[in-house]
Amino acid sequence: MTSYRDGAVSWLRLVDDAQRLLALPANHAEYPFGYHEARRLPALHDCAVRLETALTEAVAAIEDPSTDPEDIAEIERLVVDMKTALEPLLDRLRIMQEAAGLEPAPPSGILAKISRMAGRGAGEVIDGINELRGPDSGTVIHSVRARALDVAMKKAFGIAGGAQTAARNVLVEITLGSGVTGYGEAAPFPAFNGETQEQALAACGRAATELVGKDLAALVKKASRIESASASAACAIETALVDAHTKTLGVPLHAWLGGREESLVTDITITTGTVEEAAREARAFALFETLKIKVGGGDVDWDVARVNAVFEARPDARLILDANGGLSVADAIRLARELRARGIVPALFEQPVAAGSWEALAEVRAQTGLRVAADESITCVADVDAALGNVDFVNVKIMKSGFFEAVRIARRAKPQALGLMVGGMVETRLAHGASACLAAGIGGFAFVDLDTPLFLASDPFIGGYAQEGPRIDLTPVTLGHGATPR
Ligand SMILES: [Mg+2]
Repeated sequence: MTSYRDGAVSWLRLVDDAQRLLALPANHAEYPFGYHEARRLPALHDCAVRLETALTEAVAAIEDPSTDPEDIAEIERLVVDMKTALEPLLDRLRIMQEAAGLEPAPPSGILAKISRMAGRGAGEVIDGINELRGPDSGTVIHSVRARALDVAMKKAFGIAGGAQTAARNVLVEITLGSGVTGYGEAAPFPAFNGETQEQALAACGRAATELVGKDLAALVKKASRIESASASAACAIETALVDAHTKTLGVPLHAWLGGREESLVTDITITTGTVEEAAREARAFALFETLKIKVGGGDVDWDVARVNAVFEARPDARLILDANGGLSVADAIRLARELRARGIVPALFEQPVAAGSWEALAEVRAQTGLRVAADESITCVADVDAALGNVDFVNVKIMKSGFFEAVRIARRAKPQALGLMVGGMVETRLAHGASACLAAGIGGFAFVDLDTPLFLASDPFIGGYAQEGPRIDLTPVTLGHGATPR
């Protein structure tokens, strides 16, 4: 077997070199080409040539059947890093060469090859390679099954619009011709967006008839949103598709999405309830550094008292308020002011007012000075563009948009002035595991709100992520999202 490890160290160094060169000020646009630019040109050219050579070696290693399969996922991550470094380097080089009156370098052959093979994530590189290897009848969808997934709760999960007293979810199983099965979960939350288990089950049934006989790899490559009136049903099907796909590829879901991180630290929710309950729960959640308090379910004074009780019980904790759109602009501003008068400044105010008005969210943000997150307002990638400049964070949830669109939302928001939060509905470890893979794979999520399995009376799944206190550990996940029914 061929080891890539010696090459990997020098490949990583090249990525560093490219980033260092690119970090130097790009003054070619403002000034005529000068002495300093001319001195940098050979270094840029040399780095680009070495990166192109390294990328060619890495792609050859992926295609080489003697490469250790365990190394391939790591090499693919390096390919993505090197490609991400090389593209802007070549752009800069071309501008500088033109400014210097030199013949621009020819387009990179290896980048053209990778772009034929790959999109943005490591998994897409593998997809491209599989495509080169030809179709495989084992990836044809053989069956799609959906059934009720009812789980009792230790405690009701109350938000401004109502409470959930049991998880009445849906489990989707997609089995391929190869025998591989992928699992997905729908978690309709009537109080959040009016979706019900009955609707989700019916929607899964309709989608199932469309899917049988189709090629899974082609569906995942297109990453099209499953058309369904029920967003949670689309989420269940798309999650099962990517689970089956990454199992077939032999990679964990978070590696397929980019493999940026291996663990996350979640908050825990203090749901709507009495002042005494809020204080008791704040003390009980001693291991959690971030407490998320549901507000907006009663009057403002009630919420002030509840948040104050949490603050007094846990003055060390980072606090998030989530109104689920249940406050008016005036009440949201009054709540923040009353809290500030008591020395309480939450780290984030999630969806203070109803979705539909970006101006209202922007006004709460301006008047309170708090960082505001959009949750109910974000259900598709176009919403990210609308959010820009009006809020500070977007809450990415696979249940609102489906899995594929959630990936697009996160990737659209990440390079912009929008922070990332990941959350869910009342979900088991299956859907939360898929979301954890999404957040860790793409990386850079400042707020993680994946706590609802802790509210369930039982865990219907084995495998998947491990959890100790607030820490979600993805290292036990070796294939897909890892969760399978008991
Ligand atoms: Mg929320």
